[in-house]
Amino acid sequence: MRLLPNAVTVFVALLVSHQPVSADELRCLATTGMIGDLVKAVVGERGHVEVLMSSGVDPHLYQPTRSDLAKVLAADVIFYNGLHLEGRMDEAFVRAQKAGRSVCAVAEQLPMQSLLHDAEDPEAHDPHVWMDPKSWRMVLLAIRDRCVLLDPAGRSVYESNTDSYLKNLKALDVYASEILQTVPVEVRVLVTAHDAFGYFGKRFGFEVIGLQGISTESEASVQDVNRLVDLLVQRKIPAIFVESTVPEKGIRALIEGASAQGHQVKIGGSLYSDAMGDSGTWSGTYLGMIDHNVTTIARALGGEAPQGGWRSTENSPPTESSP
Ligand code: ZN
Repeated sequence: MRLLPNAVTVFVALLVSHQPVSADELRCLATTGMIGDLVKAVVGERGHVEVLMSSGVDPHLYQPTRSDLAKVLAADVIFYNGLHLEGRMDEAFVRAQKAGRSVCAVAEQLPMQSLLHDAEDPEAHDPHVWMDPKSWRMVLLAIRDRCVLLDPAGRSVYESNTDSYLKNLKALDVYASEILQTVPVEVRVLVTAHDAFGYFGKRFGFEVIGLQGISTESEASVQDVNRLVDLLVQRKIPAIFVESTVPEKGIRALIEGASAQGHQVKIGGSLYSDAMGDSGTWSGTYLGMIDHNVTTIARALGGEAPQGGWRSTENSPPTESSP
């Protein structure tokens, strides 16, 4: 129900107050690195892209600074995830919209039926759409369409850049599907620090369980820990995962609890959930982040994945596009 008024308001704001960009480059601002990576892929040389949140930053808790607000108001277009991922930035987006900026909540452009609900709040949707490369393709298309709307003269550039990136997303999705199918069916259970992997689970056939809920704003209770420890022991889950944006102590408590009951669980690795790796590295790209995650998950849970991940295979993107 939130989508329609939002979309209409944005469209009207565009019609009424946004000056179309012609000669100058399109100034884009993205909140998360995952969104920024797609925007960079679409605009290429035709625009300038700035990303607010760097590696290791938790978007659920991110509080915009004064200089962030200035950046939001200075951009031609702001791409943010929406679905309450950047819960503390709502006011900044409203201000940007009032100031005539083009504001696009990328995950809210997806069809309603492809969105997952928050188990703890049926009124809300799960914002972690990037965990499924197939859903992320729809976000790429939404970004392309918004760029074309704002800068029609660049249409052919935006379309061609988008088509190139779509090929990579498709190949990544194929790789992920293939290696995750090598994990034994009985241990296709992904236990992580918070509920960021719902779309991953739906796409690749994994049961996913987060110690904390959809947002990291609420802490896990003792009951949550005990319930999960029992599950690890009963189902003999071999590995659970920490996340780069969430403190490890909750996951450590699970391992200690299982050990006290005689079941040894290991940390299967650190996954990139709500932020990518360091900029300038492979995992600091969207493709690299998902490659890292699926390769780590498959290997820790007894599947077979190449030592160097997707990038070491012949279907990965050419090295010049991978830092
Ligand atoms: Zn999250």
